[in-house]
Amino acid sequence: MSDNLQELEREYQPALEHYLSGAGEAALERAYEIGRRAMAAGLGVLQMAALHQRALSLVLAKAAEPEQSAELAVRATDFLAESLSPFEMALRGFQETSISLRSSLDKLAAAHRALEARTLQQSAVAELGQQALEGADLSELLQKSAGLVAQTLDIELAEILELLPDEKTLLLRAGVGWKEGLVGHATRWVGVESHAGFTLLSNEPAILENLEKDTRFHGLSLLHDHGVVSGMSVVIHGREKPFGTLGAYSTKPRKFTKDDIAFLQATANVLAAAIERKRAEEERQLLARAQAARAKAEEAERRFAFLAEASTVLTESLDYEAMLKSVARVAVPFLADWCLAHVIKDNGQAACVAAAHVDPAKLELARELGRRYPPDPNLPFGIPKVLRTGKAEIYPSDPEPLLRAASYDSEQLQILKQLGLVSAMIVPLGARGRTLGAITLVSAQPARCYTRSDLALAEDLARRVALAVDNAALHQEVLAERDKAERANRAKDEFLAILSHELRNPLVPIIGWARVLKSHSLIAQDDTLLEGIRALERNALNMVRLVDDCLDLVRISQQKIEMKLELVDLNEIARASIETMREQIQVKGINLVVDLSPAKLSVSGDRTRLEQVVINLLINSMKYTSNGGSIVIGSSKVGNDVELWVRDTGIGIAPEYLEQIFEPFRQGTGAWLVSQSGLGIGLAISRQIAQMHGGRIWAESEGLGRGSTFRLRLPLAQESHEEVDRTRPELSNLGRPLRILLMEDSEDILYIMKLELERMGYSVLTASDGREGIELAMREKPDLIISDIKMPGLDGYELIKRVRAIPALATVPAIALTGFGMKTDVEKALACGYNAHLSKPVDPDKLSALIKRLASKQKEMAS
Ligand code: ADP
Repeated sequence: MSDNLQELEREYQPALEHYLSGAGEAALERAYEIGRRAMAAGLGVLQMAALHQRALSLVLAKAAEPEQSAELAVRATDFLAESLSPFEMALRGFQETSISLRSSLDKLAAAHRALEARTLQQSAVAELGQQALEGADLSELLQKSAGLVAQTLDIELAEILELLPDEKTLLLRAGVGWKEGLVGHATRWVGVESHAGFTLLSNEPAILENLEKDTRFHGLSLLHDHGVVSGMSVVIHGREKPFGTLGAYSTKPRKFTKDDIAFLQATANVLAAAIERKRAEEERQLLARAQAARAKAEEAERRFAFLAEASTVLTESLDYEAMLKSVARVAVPFLADWCLAHVIKDNGQAACVAAAHVDPAKLELARELGRRYPPDPNLPFGIPKVLRTGKAEIYPSDPEPLLRAASYDSEQLQILKQLGLVSAMIVPLGARGRTLGAITLVSAQPARCYTRSDLALAEDLARRVALAVDNAALHQEVLAERDKAERANRAKDEFLAILSHELRNPLVPIIGWARVLKSHSLIAQDDTLLEGIRALERNALNMVRLVDDCLDLVRISQQKIEMKLELVDLNEIARASIETMREQIQVKGINLVVDLSPAKLSVSGDRTRLEQVVINLLINSMKYTSNGGSIVIGSSKVGNDVELWVRDTGIGIAPEYLEQIFEPFRQGTGAWLVSQSGLGIGLAISRQIAQMHGGRIWAESEGLGRGSTFRLRLPLAQESHEEVDRTRPELSNLGRPLRILLMEDSEDILYIMKLELERMGYSVLTASDGREGIELAMREKPDLIISDIKMPGLDGYELIKRVRAIPALATVPAIALTGFGMKTDVEKALACGYNAHLSKPVDPDKLSALIKRLASKQKEMAS
């Protein structure tokens, strides 16, 4: 430095001298140059001044005059000033630079702050975007956004308002800084007077610089309440309509920057995208759910149709093997490519009774396999296991290990592999706790691996099949049992028919003779004899009734009671029944009161059957009423009906039994069970008879010990005067009395019936067996034939067939007479050629009427 200084001093002094000597501008330039170099060498202004001082003193020392020195000193000042001018210029430049530098630094700091805020905002938006991408729950995301906005902008309140479907209301969906209870509930109207509403309607960001001064909005009480001063709000856009608005509010005056608005809008945009995504996702899910539901419904429909079809084929046969074959057929290919049905036979062994496959060639292969390698019943899996345990098995995929385990050797394994099995399920056929067999369903398609739902369907199918198989077995059992029962029933009916025939036959002459004797003059004169004969007849008729009851029992069970309808007076029926019972009632010490209607009560009815009902009622009243009690029998007309009642003062009937006693074999319980109780069929038969007459019968009682009333109600019939005129016999075509051929193997019956027919005015030929009868018929050509059915040698059926084969006798009226009152007997008799049927003992009036009817019909045909 000092070198420089000395050099500059050396230069400065001559230059100064040169200037002072009057060198002018050029010398001044040198001063400037020296000054510049001094500044470059690091010299200060003061050093420069000192240097000048020293050079000037040397110059002045050389000066001769003091006045001259003063002048020189003044002029030297200019030179110094010139040498200092680079310093001045440098100083000015420095000052200017320093000022511009400061302003640059300020700008830099502001830019840095803005950058920082923007970075913060950008990272907030990025974070939000990330969360939206991660599929955060929408409500959570909205809440988070509000928090992030408040934090990033360093403000107190943020809000997300959702536009509700009415498009008139905004709901505060999420927010921070709001009083408790507002988020999720508070609403605002969409209108220009609200900040958010304005934002939404104008569809662009809206800034609120100072709430106090902003005159645009009125409905901002909520913002006022929260001390809001400044704020901004942007639209959260949506695909079709906006989702709502996003707002940020500060309780201090704040001027929001463009960046702030951009940030808020960016946040709103992220939210909009997230909401859109969420909604699209929801729509997709809904669609997927709807598609899945439809697919499920279609699948269910298909399965239902399949089960319905399977159920239908199950009803097509009652043979279980046929049934299983049909089921196997319908199961392929819907449910399987293979279907096998095994059943456990009586010997306990399982046998394959049905098999179906989409490809018949494969089926043959499987059969061959079955023949060569009979299945091991102890196999710990597969069909043997299902048959043992009764539990379904499913092999969803990869059957190889099973096939390996099931194979005896590699050849079997090879064949099994060729079958191309993929997945399988085996379901048991279980019914009433037993395993009847199993159905195996196999898939040979890699795309069809059985699932639990397939198994459920297969089990459903198996349940139906098992039920049908079991029903078929039960049906076979029932058929066998019914056959057995029917055989037994037929045997019983035959026995009853034969029995009744055998019992009736001896009664015929008794009753017949009683009737003959009754009208004999000798007996008619003697009261005792007459009463004796009447008693004989009455009791014989009672016995006939008992036999009939026995038959009725059979008929009731077969619903085959036969009715012989005629016009009868119910009072007459009552009187006849009273006569039958009067004596017995009196003997028991019971008072019998008769209160019959004086008017005729006509009904169209079967006299015998109706008497049977009334007598049964009287017998019951007598049985269930003790000595000293009373029975009233009465009748009356009730509207279009007639009614007969029997009232007693007996043991009465408990209310719960009033109906039951009309069922066969039903009687009262021990409390009112008395020793007189019979079989319990009388009332059942009575009801059946009443119903067959179009009427009804019922019991009334006020309870046990309070007596009973039985009422029989029948429809009233129109009176007709068709009376049987027994006195005038039907005449033959020739105008003479009819000639009747009577065939009967019982001599007693033959005799008495001949007597009765002759009393009716007919001429009677008799034969005691069929053979004799047919000869007589051929010879005598009778006008009418009456024949027994059961006769030695040639029975009535055979007889009439032969009679009909003889041209002269082909149309002769023939009446079958038998103790067999069964419908089948009647039908058989008519089918063989008889024109009518009467059961023994025959009522003479009915016989007479029938003969007349047949004879006049014959006459009509002949004329
Ligand atoms: P049975 O008298 O042979 O037992 P019924 O069919 O005639 O059969 O009657 C059925 C039941 O009705 C009787 O067992 C009896 O308990 C009851 N019953 C019938 N008539 C009377 C009556 N007059 N008073 C009380 N109980 C009666």
